[in-house]
Amino acid sequence: MSTTLLSGRNLAKLIQQKVRDQARDLEADGLRPTLAVVVATNDGSTQWYVRSIERAAEGAGVHCRIVDLGSDATEQALASVLKDLSAEPSVNGIILQTPLPPGVDADALVGHIAPEKDIDGANPLSLGRLAVGQPAFAPATARAVTEILDHFDIPVAGRNVVVIGRSAVVGKPLSLLLLERDAAVTVCHSRSGPLEEYTRKAAVVVVAAGRTGLLNGSHISSGTVVIDVGTNVLADGSLVGDVDEASVRGIAGALTPVPGGVGSVTTSLILLHTTRAARQQSCAQVRETVPI
Ligand code: NAP
Repeated sequence: MSTTLLSGRNLAKLIQQKVRDQARDLEADGLRPTLAVVVATNDGSTQWYVRSIERAAEGAGVHCRIVDLGSDATEQALASVLKDLSAEPSVNGIILQTPLPPGVDADALVGHIAPEKDIDGANPLSLGRLAVGQPAFAPATARAVTEILDHFDIPVAGRNVVVIGRSAVVGKPLSLLLLERDAAVTVCHSRSGPLEEYTRKAAVVVVAAGRTGLLNGSHISSGTVVIDVGTNVLADGSLVGDVDEASVRGIAGALTPVPGGVGSVTTSLILLHTTRAARQQSCAQVRETVPI
C-alpha cells in the first residue's frame, strides 16, 4: 500500500488567507485584531517560536504584542499582566507561553486569561465548555488535527479513533473534539497497556506523547491514518515526531509529516482564533451599548 503524505502547509496557507480576509474586514470596521504573547523564559527554541508567531501574525494583518517579563518573572507579576491584558479592550487574544520560571504554577496562571480571549484554550473553563458542547476556543494543536482530517476528507464518525496522550493541551481536548464528531474515541496513555491492542483496531491513530519512535509499523493495520502531533528535537538539532516514519510507510494509508504537518497548521489557527475573538468581542460590545 502506498502511504499518502498529509502535508499541513497548503492548509496553513488557506487558513492564513482566511485570517487576512477577516483582519481586513475588521480593519474596515476600525478594529485591529491583537494577539498578546506573554513570555518569561530565555529558552532559545521558545524565543524562536514566539518570533515565528510574530512574523506570521504581522504577515496576516494581526498585531502581535510580545510581553516579555524575563526568566526571573514571579507568579504574581505574571498573574497581574494576564489580568491586565484580559481587561484591556485593545487585546483580543492572549497566550501564556511555556516554559515558565521554576516554581511558577502555570495551571493557576491560565485561570487569569479571560475565556473570550483564551484563543489557545488554556483556561480550564475553556476545556469545561468544550466538554459540555458550549462555544469555546479549543487548543490550536487539537483543532489543527481535526482541521487536517476535514481538509483531507478523512471521516471519523462511527469509526475507531485512538488518541495517544491525555494532556490538557492536546490529548483531552482532541478527544472531546473527536467525540463531538461522533468518533468512537479511545485515549491511551503511559499506563493503558500495550498500544497495539488499541491501535491495530483503529481507523485513525493520533499520537501526541512526545516520545520518539513510539508508534511503528507493527502497531497499525493496513490503511490506518496516522496523525503525528509529537515534536522531538534530536541531538543533531533535527525535528522528528512520535512516529517511526520509515516503518509505517507502506502500511499506513496516510501520515502527517514532522515537520510540515500538524505544527504548520497550529500557528495559523492561533491567528484565526484571534480574528474570531476580535469579531466576537466587537459584537458583544455593540450588544452592551445598544439601549434596551
Ligand atoms: P505531555 O503533557 O508530556 O503529555 C504526554 C502524554 O503522552 C501523556 O498523557 C502521557 O501519558 C503520554 N505518554 C507518554 N509516554 C507514553 C507511552 N510510552 N505510551 C503511551 N502514552 C504515553 O505532552 P503534550 O504537551 O501533550 O505534547 C505531546 C507532544 O505534542 C509533544 O511532543 C509536544 O512537543 C507536541 N506538541 C506539538 C504541538 C504542535 O503544534 N505540533 C503543540 C503542542 C504539543 P501519562 O498521562 O500517563 O503521563
